Amino acid sequence: MLANKETTPCRSRLRVNDTVQVILGKGAAGRKRVLGEGEDAQDRQARGKILSINKEKGRATVEGVKMVYKHQKASRDPSQPNVGRIQKEASIALSNLMLVCPKCNAATRIGIRSEEYERAGGQKKIRRIRVCKKCGADIAERA
Ligand SMILES: [Zn+2]
Repeated sequence: MLANKETTPCRSRLRVNDTVQVILGKGAAGRKRVLGEGEDAQDRQARGKILSINKEKGRATVEGVKMVYKHQKASRDPSQPNVGRIQKEASIALSNLMLVCPKCNAATRIGIRSEEYERAGGQKKIRRIRVCKKCGADIAERA
């Protein structure tokens, strides 16, 4: 079953800068976040922007979600002023993330709509556009 694990590309349709909701795991709703003043129950769901994606590992880091402390040793490099305990996002499996639709604000699965378009020079190409499975809105590659 795992024979072509190495050649199977990561099929996630998530992109850097997408806003996602963590649906499982340590960073998931209610585990790490405490409601602050002026926050409602919606804030309990851990949401954030994808900072980076590692397709080989199938993991991503999400802004402000699953924060961990790293113990950074003092460095002589002046561009590395952080010493001691610094907070950093730990990676989360892509399968634990759901896109938050910018239009209907719901955590949703992503559909794909194909659209034919003409390139300069008359060459026909198919463009694949991500769409929200809930409201059908197009989802921009970069918000
Ligand atoms: Zn939507």
